[in-house]
Amino acid sequence: MEEKGERKGFFDPFKEKREKMVKEQLIRRGIHDERVLNAMRKVPRHLFVPPDLIEEAYNDYPLPIGYGQTISQPYMVALMTEALEIKENDKVLEIGTGSGYQTAILAELCKEVYTIERILPLLERAKEILRKLGYKNIHFRAGDGTLGWPENKPYDAIIVTAGAPKIPQPLLDQLAEGGRLVIPIGDRFSQELIKVTKLEGEFIRENLGGCRFVDLIGIHGWKE
Ligand code: SAM
Repeated sequence: MEEKGERKGFFDPFKEKREKMVKEQLIRRGIHDERVLNAMRKVPRHLFVPPDLIEEAYNDYPLPIGYGQTISQPYMVALMTEALEIKENDKVLEIGTGSGYQTAILAELCKEVYTIERILPLLERAKEILRKLGYKNIHFRAGDGTLGWPENKPYDAIIVTAGAPKIPQPLLDQLAEGGRLVIPIGDRFSQELIKVTKLEGEFIRENLGGCRFVDLIGIHGWKE
């Protein structure tokens, strides 16, 4: 049977680059969750970057994807995904679909992904790539992700891939008991990666270190 994200007869000339990326950028920096590493070994990141940047797809930095947005650095994708502690039966909410690369990694690891993007052409592009790759467990929405996606709450994990001034309250409200939320919080130039775990109704906060993301724009984020 065909696996998620793989197509029969599909030759992937970037497999070696991906293996090198996993070894040199992820394992060497302490990413150790085998499920996360295997997802990063498998998802063809080069299909999510603009065609003129394809040779740089596996390099150790973010890349522009148009509309002033970026596909995150591989290490940042791995770090955030590992922190989410995703299990096979989990329901995951992603705010900021962007290229759709992080979405594919999540879709490899959980049962259902709900992803929201505010820039329609980016959402449409991501949808098309993910459809071609055969993912069937991703649900897309255009709009302001700072409001979450209340119809399908609660979520076992929530990831925000854009920087916010504070944690949007609707996302905390939509987190399941035992759920994990990962979000960059700070000013518009630099942020701290914050992990929140909901335990017995309380929100436990951890700081995972400095980072730099594009703005989360919306009612509970930055103004445009
Ligand atoms: N994870 C993505 C990837 O792998 O390509 C990177 C996403 S990029 C760093 C952040 C994305 O968040 C942008 O596409 C941006 O348009 C989106 N964004 C910003 N504010 C948003 C909001 N309120 N709701 C939904 N998406 C938002």
